[in-house]
Amino acid sequence: MAAVPAPLSVETIRDAPKVLLHDHLDGGLRPGTVVELADAIGYTALPTRDPGELAGWFLGAAHSGSLERYLETFGHTVAVMQTPEALARVAAECAEDLAADGVVYAEVRFAPELHVEQGLDLDEVVLAVLDGFRTGTARAAAAGRTIRIGCLLTAMRHAARSREIAELAVRYRDVGVVGFDIAGAEKGFPPTRHLDAFEYVRQQNAHVTIHAGEAFGLPSIWEAIQWCGADRLGHGVRIVDDIAVDADGTVKLGLLAAYVRDTRIPLEMCPTSNVHTGAARSLAEHPIGLLTKLRFRVTVNTDNRLMSGCSMTSEMAALVDTFGYGWADLRWFTVNAMKSAFIGFDERLALINDVIKPAYAALVR
Ligand SMILES: [Zn+2]
Repeated sequence: MAAVPAPLSVETIRDAPKVLLHDHLDGGLRPGTVVELADAIGYTALPTRDPGELAGWFLGAAHSGSLERYLETFGHTVAVMQTPEALARVAAECAEDLAADGVVYAEVRFAPELHVEQGLDLDEVVLAVLDGFRTGTARAAAAGRTIRIGCLLTAMRHAARSREIAELAVRYRDVGVVGFDIAGAEKGFPPTRHLDAFEYVRQQNAHVTIHAGEAFGLPSIWEAIQWCGADRLGHGVRIVDDIAVDADGTVKLGLLAAYVRDTRIPLEMCPTSNVHTGAARSLAEHPIGLLTKLRFRVTVNTDNRLMSGCSMTSEMAALVDTFGYGWADLRWFTVNAMKSAFIGFDERLALINDVIKPAYAALVR
């Protein structure tokens, strides 16, 4: 009798190992934690103190279809993440939540410069978050879930601290920081504004990912890769603008799209978030379908779990529903992500061969 694949359900997808490369610490707080931290510091600007209503409010703001409006929601989460205790708690809960969702390896990013409003310095911010990840990872292990977390330090593209943040990323490379990123509104703030930061990181043999091609088009992606030396692209959705599909189905890649595919530059795609910010009209029309078919190095990510009301499990389940993907496709996304991680080759290989492949072999059957 032929082996039958395991059923694809939210439960089985949650149990399958998953790898997450693009997740913002200040976009993944538990709603109840936002309320408790706000109460503790006397922050009164939250739209509601009811965690359920607050979760709905974040989701509604995320649905507005504007990246600028979406970014506004971070005013609240960042406001309650200004002490070492708050940062460590949020990081610990992040590790626990991801582990409970079946994530075995995650790179979580945050912008240290946003957490210095109450007097912390950049180093104190990084240390508090790293401490929180250690605590959360240990708690997850005690609950029977193994997760490893690497940290990405983000500089804000409209600000002028990118070189400092790049130096911070290199300084903490041996204790949990695995790379450098820039984020924020793309329009008007091209990545080439931060060339010295990228040059420094590359000269130190460290890794770079850049938010590009989310709200803004091909020039942003081109600058990120060819001027700034990005190892990966955050989103990269608009690379489809360089791909022509004729009525008869013939596909022609432009030079940039061909370069991205040929050199296997990973795309950190965040389908639900992209629909929320208007980078894609719907999940069905999301370029991830075409890019997967064309075998770009596509990875699946959450971006902001709180604002988008999503998890790695819900993202994978939504792709299964929308595009009819099976276990072999979910394994492909997962191995793609693991190959693209910023930890060492031997460590990536061990996770692929010892954790990911055996688990999916049992599911694909
Ligand atoms: Zn992002």
